[in-house]
Amino acid sequence: MLVTYNIAVAKLSLEITVSATTPSGQSDNEALREKYQIERDKRFRADGAEQYMEPSGRFADLADDPWVGDVDRDPVTDDVTVALIGGGFSGLCTGAQLQKLGVTDVRIIDGAGDVGGVWYWNRYPGAMCDTAAMVYLPLLEETGYMPSKKYVYGKEIFEHAQRIAKTFDLTDKALFSTQVTSLEWDDASSRWEIKTDRGDHFRARFVAMGTGPMTRPKLPGIPGIESFKGHTFHTARWDYDYTGGDWGGAPMEKLADKRVGIIGTGATAVQCIPGLARDAGELFVFQRTPSSIDVRNNHSIDPDEFAELKPGWQSEWLMNFATLQMGGFTDEDLVKDGWTDIAKRIRDRAVEEMGKTGSEFGPALIAKAYSDSDDEKMNEIRARVDEIVNDPATAEVLKPWYRQLCKRPCFHDEYLQSYNVPTNHLIDTDGKGVERIDETGIWANGTHYELDCIVFASGFEVHLSHTADYETVGRDGLTLSEHWAEGMRSMHGVHVHGFPSLFIEGLSQGARLISNITHNLNDAGKSIAAIVAKALEADATQVEVTEEGERAWMELVDSGPEALLSSPDCTPGYYNNEGQLPTPADRRNAGGYPAGPAAYFDYINTWRSSGKFEGLEFLDD
Ligand code: NDP
Repeated sequence: MLVTYNIAVAKLSLEITVSATTPSGQSDNEALREKYQIERDKRFRADGAEQYMEPSGRFADLADDPWVGDVDRDPVTDDVTVALIGGGFSGLCTGAQLQKLGVTDVRIIDGAGDVGGVWYWNRYPGAMCDTAAMVYLPLLEETGYMPSKKYVYGKEIFEHAQRIAKTFDLTDKALFSTQVTSLEWDDASSRWEIKTDRGDHFRARFVAMGTGPMTRPKLPGIPGIESFKGHTFHTARWDYDYTGGDWGGAPMEKLADKRVGIIGTGATAVQCIPGLARDAGELFVFQRTPSSIDVRNNHSIDPDEFAELKPGWQSEWLMNFATLQMGGFTDEDLVKDGWTDIAKRIRDRAVEEMGKTGSEFGPALIAKAYSDSDDEKMNEIRARVDEIVNDPATAEVLKPWYRQLCKRPCFHDEYLQSYNVPTNHLIDTDGKGVERIDETGIWANGTHYELDCIVFASGFEVHLSHTADYETVGRDGLTLSEHWAEGMRSMHGVHVHGFPSLFIEGLSQGARLISNITHNLNDAGKSIAAIVAKALEADATQVEVTEEGERAWMELVDSGPEALLSSPDCTPGYYNNEGQLPTPADRRNAGGYPAGPAAYFDYINTWRSSGKFEGLEFLDD
């Protein structure tokens, strides 16, 4: 059972929460606005997120774990102090923060065969994080690790996840290749009862859930998809047995005589297409909407400069990055990347406009600065396509015609270049997508492309508020689905009234810093660890947010700008629920601290360090 609290597809906000409003069309450049609208309308589909399908039938095993064999062990029936559901960076960071405060009796439970979360599953060639490693990789100072490059590959990120687990002894009690099937609060014993698909039935005094917003691969519901007789796989379960090569970037020599098709040109496809173009006999890229590809400029980290960093440097870098994302001011830009570039442009333009015209700082000014900066940035991105791609017709269809933050911005120095490889064929569908699939290949634009293999780079079901494969049953039998029927309700995005000693770890209703997800997770981990340590010290049997604490926080979240959603007039995609109008529940799920991520981190730091934990009740018998 997949339990998606609130809505089928929740919306993510803009990657950079630079503005209090999403400008909808304000610009001097009406021709550009019109072009964006035409391109958006071409792609809008009434079936929205329903156009995708869950893997079933011939694809039923698509989400199986290719990285570990069968796991055989006896069921576990014991008591732990803290259960961490999810062994990605949320579980790892929370485990590490608990360890630091002396809470060592923790158990990670994860369906994967190891820690790492998305970095466990996504081993496609070229997988890399678009956020700079100095801020993306958590706990660098604690683990004494220097990232190899400004942006690091997935393998290095996975190894860092393992490093955290090892440094903080987080795997002794862990249950991997194990899905939680039920989570139920027992008020009499003040414990959570946890059952799994391996027959485990154990109890935990506290539970933290970091189940991630993008864990289930989805497929495009293309007619005939099941009829294809060749090989298929999803990027989240790359089939190296079929392709040859490995995660470290070795050539996929088994593709040398193969005709490979790939469906999708989102952030994942952008990263794996250069490797496929290099190694496949012939590659056919089926494009519905081009991604925006900005420069990456990756480089090695200088060990001498790294050695000079003072203790506490990572917190400083994190706050510097978060502050610049909100258009704030800092003495310098420590990360200096595409995320901070666009945010600084908007900020500086707004300030310049105020100086020039005496305009007041506010949503209208920011909206204008946003729109102008975005036009400038997107013109640069389109010009870059012309500079790199040799064939003018191919270059033309690789140009994105939408505001940069309508879709996930990409940064790459080999993607556009790969279209100069003669065996890489871009099949642009002018927004229509693949027509159908038959036994031997793909139909697009009325032409049949015969293929040996189809790679689905079609993304994931995206849920922001909270997703789990099980139901969570709190006090008096109340389920989380019921409590959140009209949208997520919480304090800090972490504490939910009626669900004692339970902590949710995600992005919503807290900082919502989407350009650096691990910052949110590690920070939540610090709060959870502090609360658990205090509860243990005080011998409290339960910790729960009061009804009033949750209500007041929701009032605060609701007072914030709804504009943090990528607006429906953007070209469709999962950022804007495929262009469908947001419901009130969607808005709630996408809400965050009104003053933005940096302000939230300041606020929560004060809240946590005060030791008062206002809004929470520590109960004893
Ligand atoms: P996406 O959902 O972003 O992309 C799916 C792709 O499939 C889109 O290009 C979509 O086109 C295309 N598609 C869907 N149906 C069809 C069809 N019928 N015909 C042709 N094309 C079709 O998934 P990704 O896996 O690329 O990325 C998911 C997210 O994962 C990213 O947005 C990002 O948040 C994260 N990620 C992060 C990375 C990082 O650096 N940290 C790296 C990679 C991914 P259309 O655009 O028209 O809908």
